[in-house]
Amino acid sequence: MKPIRKWIAAAMCAVLALGGCASSAVTAGNAASATAAAAVDGTAEVTVFKAGSADAILIQTSEGAVVIDTGESSFGDNLVEALKAAGITELQALILTHFDADHVGGAAELLGSITVDAVYQSDYPKDSDEYTAYVSALKDAGITAQTVRSGVSFSVGGASFYIDPPHQTSYASNSSNNSSLIIEMTYGSTRFLFAGDAMTERLEEYLQEDRGTFQFLKVPYHGRWQNSLEELFAAVQPQIAVLTAAAKEDTEETTSALEKMGASVYQTSSGTVHVTSDGTTLSVSQE
Ligand SMILES: [Zn+2]
Repeated sequence: MKPIRKWIAAAMCAVLALGGCASSAVTAGNAASATAAAAVDGTAEVTVFKAGSADAILIQTSEGAVVIDTGESSFGDNLVEALKAAGITELQALILTHFDADHVGGAAELLGSITVDAVYQSDYPKDSDEYTAYVSALKDAGITAQTVRSGVSFSVGGASFYIDPPHQTSYASNSSNNSSLIIEMTYGSTRFLFAGDAMTERLEEYLQEDRGTFQFLKVPYHGRWQNSLEELFAAVQPQIAVLTAAAKEDTEETTSALEKMGASVYQTSSGTVHVTSDGTTLSVSQE
């Protein structure tokens, strides 16, 4: 049975005294979804880094950490530094949504500096310096990456992950972006969706799976407008949306479509975004 979800949204918005961070909270769920969800102990924290028009995302739970994408190669040092500052010496998983330079660029640096237990990758390799450096770093670390061709599920400290693979080996347009892995994370009754750089063909095949609503959405393809976003937003019903975009990107149409449906929109050009889930409520702050 699929629980009927009714999100109670946008309860609070305040300015924190420390560092002038913008902060807000979203409470989610009703009796049905709260009962259906697994109880969690502690919190899950999602950090979406300011890294230009590029993706680098850290997920921390009480029992481990996962990274989704690693930004450009020039961001590798920053990512490793941020992980070390957070006391992370080991990752339970590194997920690379696809092999464009703004997603795989920092992977070689990361694999050379931090122990990584498992690497999940897309099925559309690229002939690029970044890809070559990544493959060589995998070899040096003695890791065999798992190419995701059918759905993969795993859990880290109460957070359940599902990686949805591309359904095709190539696409009519932009096969690299459309080969993006799409990642779902569930923590208690809160749900997060990370859509890589999925474009129309990939979004349409994902939406056909009818995967339900998510309070948090990492908007695909750096928030650049594409008509299929309307259908995505209607299906996902995000309360919090993050655009991994530099200030120069034209994200106005995407932002306005999200705001029109009541979502709070954060763009990483304004700073790294932190989202914390206690299993029922999401709190957001931006550096
Ligand atoms: Zn990208």
